[in-house]
Amino acid sequence: MFVTFEGGDGSGKTTQASRLEEWLTGRGRGVVRTREPGGTEVGVLIRDIVLHHRGDVSPRAEALLYAADRAHHVQTVVHPALERGDVVIQDRYLDSSVAYQGAGRVLGPREVRDLSLWATEGLLPDLTVLLDLDPASARARLDADDKPFDRLEAEQDDFHARVRREFLALADAEPGRFLVLDATASPDEIAAAVRARVAALLDA
Ligand code: C5P
Ligand code: MG
Repeated sequence: MFVTFEGGDGSGKTTQASRLEEWLTGRGRGVVRTREPGGTEVGVLIRDIVLHHRGDVSPRAEALLYAADRAHHVQTVVHPALERGDVVIQDRYLDSSVAYQGAGRVLGPREVRDLSLWATEGLLPDLTVLLDLDPASARARLDADDKPFDRLEAEQDDFHARVRREFLALADAEPGRFLVLDATASPDEIAAAVRARVAALLDA
């Protein structure tokens, strides 16, 4: 089973991915916990380019770098884990590219999705948890935690508004794959909702 966590920066993806990992491990499931960009050695190099040389990379090149990271990650980490029967829990996947590069960078959600599906040979998650949070609350939350937030600082508010709208549109288009949760709910409430959906999928 392939589970991805999506949402803007500061929405709590990492916290919730950890909570799910603990729960599944406690139930004796094999779990591979990973992320994009940067889930492989090659991916770490790509992550450095897309995060730290952002201003030097043109939008199309950025989209191709995320797609290259994803192609290598799926082939060398995600696919082998799924073949073994492990649950893969991942921070960000193709929906992030559709939202950030497709809508945020205005390259076009359709084109970026097609590029991603080519890169992954069409692999889609069984479940995508979208932690929905408005950009102003995300900013306040990251400030309160004293987390430096280069993406939130580097981009204008309309960029984040486009990203959030696109995530919600993706969830609307594929209601069977997505579980949309209000990221302002308590971590315990969110974790319980995620567990309930994962348990239902595992029992199905
Ligand atoms: O979630 P994580 O901290 O790994 O994301 C790193 C940064 O990369 C974030 O600022 C996020 O907004 C950005 N990102 C992006 N396009 C993607 C994935 C992540 O711009 N496809
Ligand atoms: Mg994170």
